[in-house]
Amino acid sequence: MPIAPPVLVVSDLHLDREPGPTLTRFLAFLDGPARAASALYILGDLFEYWVGDDDDHPAAELLAAALSRLPMPVTFQHGNRDFLLGTAYARRAGMTLAPEELPVEGATGTAPLMLHGDSLCTADVDHQRFRTLVRAPEWQREFLTRPLDTRIAEAERLRALSREAGRLKPRDITDVHPEAVQAVLRRHQRALLVHGHTHRPAIHRLQVDGRPCLRCVLPAWDELPGYLVLDAGGPRLLTLDGEAYPVVSGGAVASA
Ligand code: MN
Repeated sequence: MPIAPPVLVVSDLHLDREPGPTLTRFLAFLDGPARAASALYILGDLFEYWVGDDDDHPAAELLAAALSRLPMPVTFQHGNRDFLLGTAYARRAGMTLAPEELPVEGATGTAPLMLHGDSLCTADVDHQRFRTLVRAPEWQREFLTRPLDTRIAEAERLRALSREAGRLKPRDITDVHPEAVQAVLRRHQRALLVHGHTHRPAIHRLQVDGRPCLRCVLPAWDELPGYLVLDAGGPRLLTLDGEAYPVVSGGAVASA
């Protein structure tokens, strides 16, 4: 029996403008495990911030060159930091831009629903307000008309604010809300959810309308980098060394 190549999923690389250790690791991943995949999905926050496709900084250019050389399809979903990544950069990187909620067809194993994850943090009212503002086409159009250095300064300011706010908020406020998870799985009639954003890697079991479901949470690369494998063997979180990802949060299938 031929073994179908896996689908690989990553998110939350939070790459800076200047090439650093995370970019080096990701380029090695693209040149290593990713080569054997049938598809690669990047579920947002690939960059620490993105102020427009005209900001061709060194990390963006190196990454676009590497991604565009991959033999399999690469799909990108926006995160709450790189929501302005547009069609011009996606074309340079050879990526397809996906909608906010992506039901994936044709993967071996259970068909997953993919999303960045911040839309599920519904208890974080400040963030949801910010999200509604910056995802509006009028706001984005106006922002993109500003000079590049003004946009960069604004992104740096927002980054500092969001770090401070994240530090002050209770842990359950910045996690996904169970009801939002249930609702999105019900709406898409899926039993497998894959998301990032919370930086709390784990594979959780849950029930939706009596149906067993899994929720896979991707790791952040500036902490312990890793990725999700989807194939006939079921979803698995791995570190870059191909080891089982050490999951410590409560309620997870795997434990450290
Ligand atoms: Mn995020």
